[in-house]
Amino acid sequence: IPTVEILSTGDELLTGQVVDTNSTWLMDRLWDLGLMVRRKTLVGDDRGDLQAALREATARADVVVMSGGMGPTEDDLTAECVAAVLGVPLERHEPSLEAIRRRFQHFGRPMTPNNEKQALFPRGAAVIPNRFGTAPGFSVQLGRARLYCLPGVPVEYKGLCDEAVLPALAAGLESVPAGRVVKLFGLGESAVDHAMRPLMDAPENQGVRFGYRAHWPEVHVKWTVGGEDATARADRLLGEVRALFGDAVWGEGKDELPRVVVERLLSRGERVTTAESCTGGLVAELLTSVPGSSGAFDMGVVAYSYEAKSALVGVPAELIAAHGAVSEPVARALAEGSRARAGATWGVGITGIAGPGGGTPEKPVGTVHLALAGPGGTAHVARLYRGDRDRVRRSTAFEALFLLLR
Ligand code: ATP
Ligand code: MG
Repeated sequence: IPTVEILSTGDELLTGQVVDTNSTWLMDRLWDLGLMVRRKTLVGDDRGDLQAALREATARADVVVMSGGMGPTEDDLTAECVAAVLGVPLERHEPSLEAIRRRFQHFGRPMTPNNEKQALFPRGAAVIPNRFGTAPGFSVQLGRARLYCLPGVPVEYKGLCDEAVLPALAAGLESVPAGRVVKLFGLGESAVDHAMRPLMDAPENQGVRFGYRAHWPEVHVKWTVGGEDATARADRLLGEVRALFGDAVWGEGKDELPRVVVERLLSRGERVTTAESCTGGLVAELLTSVPGSSGAFDMGVVAYSYEAKSALVGVPAELIAAHGAVSEPVARALAEGSRARAGATWGVGITGIAGPGGGTPEKPVGTVHLALAGPGGTAHVARLYRGDRDRVRRSTAFEALFLLLR
């Protein structure tokens, strides 16, 4: 099994301006191949540091994936540093230069001379064409490692990993393990771990690699199985894990909650409408981020002030005066009012205190009332979410989506 290291570069990664999401994304993909990254290095845009890091990583690992420093500017040093460590000159790659020219023409932008730099590669490098952006990637043999150098822009980085790096890695493996993911809602990681323990410790599951990813409010449980019967064993676990978590399961594999909800609505010929207060339209945003959602989403109202709740959705002012805006009756009235006004199958109503201010002892920050009005009546849930404003709003919006699946 090859050892893999990651080398992420750029001053912005060391100043806290940018989080190195490229590497975490790649680690996740490598895990699916049964590969674990041995070490990750972050280096700034400095010739000495870059060359030292390149020497070290390529002396240790079989595969090194480097990101950043492929742009046209002064501080983009990757090709230059790799060439220096290899002891070869940079050479112009005409097909890449031509592709860069065409790209500038296509977008009607003038090409400046420094863009030609992006067609310079260490002699002997294999160029990796980039149809997601301007700068191609490249790979070379350096030290004991196959070194892949990719642009830092995440869509380009991911695109080139998927097209060139991961397939090459997979092709070099004797077998690729079978991997499965089950996606849950609303459970903490420790609760998931506790529930999973018996399965993880079971003799028949020895050799299975289990992992979690908590992407609040979602939790993903995943595993890979190698060897004989890998697919059958991975699939058997799928049934067992689903049974273990029952109603908390909303998807598997590449499923995304908003898309699962929209597909469910479309398949039933149902439409939803929303009246949101503390989430400010986040539910509507999540639903409409799904291509084809126009068949399932009617309209979304952000009813933030008391007046808007009454004028736009018909929540009686007396109801707000009697119970407060953050209350079960108001959530129900928002759901029922929006449903009635849009003539939709489902109406979502949300009201809550996202914080950091506005909490009281009776209604602390994180108090949320959600209601779902439908053909069979109106369901209501009250929640007390932990966390900051962003987390409360996000949790609430995902809870609303999850309610639509019940
Ligand atoms: P460019 O052609 O844009 O200059 P590049 O290969 O030189 O590409 P960088 O300049 O290092 O890449 O980064 C380009 C953009 O990608 C930056 O805006 C940065 O925010 C983002 N980026 C760089 N590295 C990472 C990373 N490891 N994770 C997430 N984002 C990154
Ligand atoms: Mg750059």
